Amino acid sequence: PIPAASNFIRAIIEKDLSQSKYATKKWAGSPGDAAHQDTGVVDTAKIRTRFPPEPNGYLHIGHAKSIFLNFGLARDFDGICHLRFDDTNPEKESQEYVDSISDAVKWLGFGWDNANETNLYFASNYFDFMYRAAESLIENGHAYVDEQSADEMRINRGTLTEAGKDSPFRNRTVAENLARFREMRDGKHADGSMVLRAKIDMASPNINMRDPAIYRVRRAHHHNTGDQWCIYPMYTFAHPIEDALERITHSICTLEFEDQRPFYDWLLLRLAEPTEDVGGNKKPGLLAEPLPKQYEFARLNLTYVVLSKRKLIQLVEEKHVNGWDDPRLPTIAGARRRGYTAAGFKLFTDRIGVSKADSWIEYSILEDCMREVLNTDAERRIAVLDPIKLVIDNYPEGQSEDCFAPNHPLKPELGKRTVQLSKELWIEREDFMETPSKGFFRLTPEGMVRLRYGYVVKCTGCEKDADGKVTVVHCEYLPDTKSGTPGSDSVKVKGNIHWVSVAHAYEAEVRLYDRLFKEAHPGEGDKDFLDDINQNSVQVITTQLELSLKDAKPEESFQFERHGYFVADRKDSVAGKPVFNRTVTLKDAWQK
Ligand code: ATP
Ligand code: MG
Ligand code: MG
Repeated sequence: PIPAASNFIRAIIEKDLSQSKYATKKWAGSPGDAAHQDTGVVDTAKIRTRFPPEPNGYLHIGHAKSIFLNFGLARDFDGICHLRFDDTNPEKESQEYVDSISDAVKWLGFGWDNANETNLYFASNYFDFMYRAAESLIENGHAYVDEQSADEMRINRGTLTEAGKDSPFRNRTVAENLARFREMRDGKHADGSMVLRAKIDMASPNINMRDPAIYRVRRAHHHNTGDQWCIYPMYTFAHPIEDALERITHSICTLEFEDQRPFYDWLLLRLAEPTEDVGGNKKPGLLAEPLPKQYEFARLNLTYVVLSKRKLIQLVEEKHVNGWDDPRLPTIAGARRRGYTAAGFKLFTDRIGVSKADSWIEYSILEDCMREVLNTDAERRIAVLDPIKLVIDNYPEGQSEDCFAPNHPLKPELGKRTVQLSKELWIEREDFMETPSKGFFRLTPEGMVRLRYGYVVKCTGCEKDADGKVTVVHCEYLPDTKSGTPGSDSVKVKGNIHWVSVAHAYEAEVRLYDRLFKEAHPGEGDKDFLDDINQNSVQVITTQLELSLKDAKPEESFQFERHGYFVADRKDSVAGKPVFNRTVTLKDAWQK
């Protein structure tokens, strides 16, 4: 395996480990439960990272970058990466998304059945703890219930150049805040009528520190907790707590959360510090050191696709594509059906690296990675995608013979398979030209060409229909020239074409996919991204394939010689009748 290139996050972890910053203790019980306690035993995991998708859509290629980063760091540094469903927002979350995310993570090669502990978590299991944490903030004067309207709150938040204004509710007593917050929890107040806010600084230059909302009233059914709650924590409050409860050491997120980091640290410190009640009794904090730290990296931006759940949902719901796993979509499910491989994604994420600077990655880099992996892994097969008949007039009628085609030119150990040659063959329409252009070395009247793994043939002419379209090409073969026999190369030819015997062909549906968007930056400027959809992103054709492809298993990938890489569709193939998706062409057609 290629060693992962170093990056700034690895450097931070190496330093932390050298200073034993995270020689943490192993905890008993589940995060958030009363039984969750320090056992005094040193944690076997040297670091803990997490991949925290919200189950409100399917994962996309951007998520793959985060998955390889987080799971990869845990693997390389003897740590554990948690797959955490960040399901604290009841709207738009569903079991279908939970399942599809689990599938995608597994398919990329990561799991959650470590020998010692599970690493699968649901943030909604921490609602009780989050509620307690909110009350503790109130008790210590760090939070208040605000009854301003949403508009008032927005206006009073101020702007980048102007400090915010304190809410008239900011100086309520602890008792009053606690009572109100409990009423919110008990369903006494309408959705949107009030929020719990952290009490920090309305004049902070960082707007995120101007008393952010941390709990809101929302009557919505939750996929895990049902109707138990009518208040839900805000993401910015929930996320640091989730990390701390799971004893995450390095919480890695994308750059747009950089401005949230001060609140992340503020919150965890408030919840970790010991407190004193009115009687002067000391109470330990709700969270223990060492607290997690947040680090930001640049998200993946990829040309010719959209990597936003909102836009992907729109493409699916408005039926611009056929479902979440449409092979043209940049979802992991779509890429998988397209024939992209987990190894290809690994190569891609290693190649693009991890940095703190936002940039755009060319889609062709991803395709190159898929090509590289498939070139090594995929066996070769023969496929005629745009068939026209070639008749060998001097070949005996009703007879056929074995020809031997190597399964993989780079792996002779994979051997050869037999393909049948007979009098009538399918060849590519573009391999014949009646009036050849300069430099055309394939079939042309009087010209000679090698039928790959077979004989040299000499073209004798063609038949045409009323419109002048060629329907059949005729040739004669040179019997002494069969590939692999002595003296076979006595006749030198420049062209070498592939073919499939008509009597031994598998007629199959093949889908030729192209990019879903015709622009590198769909929707750039004030355009609607839907206007940049490529209307010709799929072409369904009837092809003639070598017979062995009839037995291809769903998800088996092949190089169709001279064409590219194709995969047997995992959804539409039936036993004995696979259909194929073009994964990627042999060369980058877009670089022409
Ligand atoms: P979207 O913004 O499209 O709704 P999201 O970021 O909200 O996606 P989450 O489910 O919250 O989606 O993402 C889970 C993890 O994946 C987050 O930690 C996030 O940082 C990471 N992630 C999401 N998109 C990208 C991307 N384009 N590149 C790298 N990481 C990403
Ligand atoms: Mg999100
Ligand atoms: Mg996002």
